[in-house]
Amino acid sequence: MLQCTAVTDVPLSDALVALATMGGGSDDPSRDLSLDHFLLCELGEHDSRTEHAALLRPSETPSRPALWFFWTGAGPDRVHRIGPVPWCPAVLRLLDTGSVLQCSFFDRHTASHSWGVTDPLGDLLADGSVSDEEPKGRTQP
Ligand SMILES: [Zn+2]
Ligand SMILES: [Zn+2]
Repeated sequence: MLQCTAVTDVPLSDALVALATMGGGSDDPSRDLSLDHFLLCELGEHDSRTEHAALLRPSETPSRPALWFFWTGAGPDRVHRIGPVPWCPAVLRLLDTGSVLQCSFFDRHTASHSWGVTDPLGDLLADGSVSDEEPKGRTQP
């Protein structure tokens, strides 16, 4: 299942209020959001009635609810909400390595668990198919 491609800008004032209300983290919540002000829906492809969802900030301890940003629609029609949501309890046991993957989505999310969602761009980057480097060995005329 491919990842949903929805992107939205973060209403910073709302996000800062939510971060401040949640407590913890750095003393200056605006620093937590300084990396970028856009969020990408992390869910697998879903229908338009389902809310898009992006992790705003993980909780301090893995067992605590994390802060998620949910939205539907785009542009002026966008409706959003921010709130702490418990993690999805699903785990995937990898029989060959014995390791356990915890779903990185929120509880009762739609579509696939996180391990069933592929990010096409991320895969390209991992393959090295997308690179800013100059090709080597091209100095010959
Ligand atoms: Zn989405
Ligand atoms: Zn899940």
